[in-house]
Amino acid sequence: MPADSFRRTKIIFTLGPATESEEMLARLIQAGADIVRLNMAHATHDWTRTVIRRIRAVSARVDRDVAIMMDIKGPEIRTGDLDVPIELKAGEIFDFTVKPGTTAGRGDSGEEVRSVDVNYQDLVNDIKVGDTVLVDNGLLRLEVLAKDEARIRCRVLIPGELKSRRHINLPGVNVNLPSFTEKDRRDSLVGLEEGIDYLALSFVRSARDVEGLREFLHHHGSHVRIVAKIEDQSAITNLDEIVTACDALMVARGDLGIECPFEELPVIQRRAVRACLAQARPVIVATHMLESMISQPVPTRAEITDVANAVFELADCVMLSGETTVGKYPLECVQMLDKIARRIESEDDNDIREPAVFTGERMKVLHAAVVLANELPHSKIISFTRHGFMAQGLAALRPARAPIFVFTHSPQVLRQLRLLRAVEPFLMPFASDPDATIENALIVLREAGRITPGDKLVIATDILSQDRLVDAVQLRTVR
Ligand code: PGA
Ligand code: MN
Repeated sequence: MPADSFRRTKIIFTLGPATESEEMLARLIQAGADIVRLNMAHATHDWTRTVIRRIRAVSARVDRDVAIMMDIKGPEIRTGDLDVPIELKAGEIFDFTVKPGTTAGRGDSGEEVRSVDVNYQDLVNDIKVGDTVLVDNGLLRLEVLAKDEARIRCRVLIPGELKSRRHINLPGVNVNLPSFTEKDRRDSLVGLEEGIDYLALSFVRSARDVEGLREFLHHHGSHVRIVAKIEDQSAITNLDEIVTACDALMVARGDLGIECPFEELPVIQRRAVRACLAQARPVIVATHMLESMISQPVPTRAEITDVANAVFELADCVMLSGETTVGKYPLECVQMLDKIARRIESEDDNDIREPAVFTGERMKVLHAAVVLANELPHSKIISFTRHGFMAQGLAALRPARAPIFVFTHSPQVLRQLRLLRAVEPFLMPFASDPDATIENALIVLREAGRITPGDKLVIATDILSQDRLVDAVQLRTVR
């Protein structure tokens, strides 16, 4: 990859029938995909194990290690199975039943009221008369009229067809479900066994949800990093504490756009990106980025502008969902994101930089490195990291033009670094003498064509000084 074709924004795609073959995986990874997402809402454990091994094998073959993100479903409320879909009519009275075997209710004039089961018994306690129930991505809208311990009686406001096992959204309702369900636990264990790199936790409502998952990972001795998906109003209320608790944030616009007033969505996205920058956490903008490309080879003008907006906002990653699971043009989608990102990154006019909070001396030293790199033409930042935190700090400072070349000795950290904006990771054992480590890194970069004579190298690393490690910034010119 020549230096001038360097892309700063990272690309995540979701694996599905359209992309799970070895051939398609190889093409998407070679086209520049950085992270593969597995959506556990639609995955069996056999499939999960098979595709994780396949992704690793293909990565090895094309010599580009991608990260794997397992997306666990969290507290999802769903309607039950239906033999045939129900056509809901506007104004119709309709029941959601929470106890298996509940008999059909009667309406005011004794008529039988149609109903569907819901997989969550305590819904009757969480919901109030007057609340809104949205079904199937908000396609159907109902209003709660009354409730008892077995059923929630509603009136249909926006009609449509109700099919089996549809997702229910309850805007503004505090749902009492655990954030990490039994299914999530079983799915995660498969992920840990197979060596995933990130776990994305759905419907995070508070820092405690993230901390619970952190304890689970700790208990299993895992270094998997946590992506908190913000998808409802409680997550927006608790945004700052969630950012503090997580390793990365996902702005999950699919559910957010249903749970919050839709005109809030762009505001929430900007706020979330800035909150992450301020606390040095990577941030992902997700869902519907190229939705029309599920069936068409070119995106809409609005989609192009949406992707560009995320890049202008300085998000770390953009993400594909349906576009690459069931879409007809998955490869073209990755190429499209790649092309738009590169073009927008070449503009200097990106969003206001909210400086990261420089807690700790290390962050201040990293800041000095980025200031230096921004001042110099042809600058490249080089860093060394054992756990990825040094790289995360540098990336959060959003250097204006310099790429960040990061060396690590750990294959998992290398893959995790794929998520960070402007970071290109390299695997290399560290020498006991930091100076030798730097020399080895320069050899790797020269051989890979990443540095050329005249380049200004800003090196952020610890050096050994009288038997003590001290944070340091060095400036070297490539000869
Ligand atoms: P999902 O999450 O695709 O798992 O629903 C992303 C979103 O809601 O945007
Ligand atoms: Mn979602």
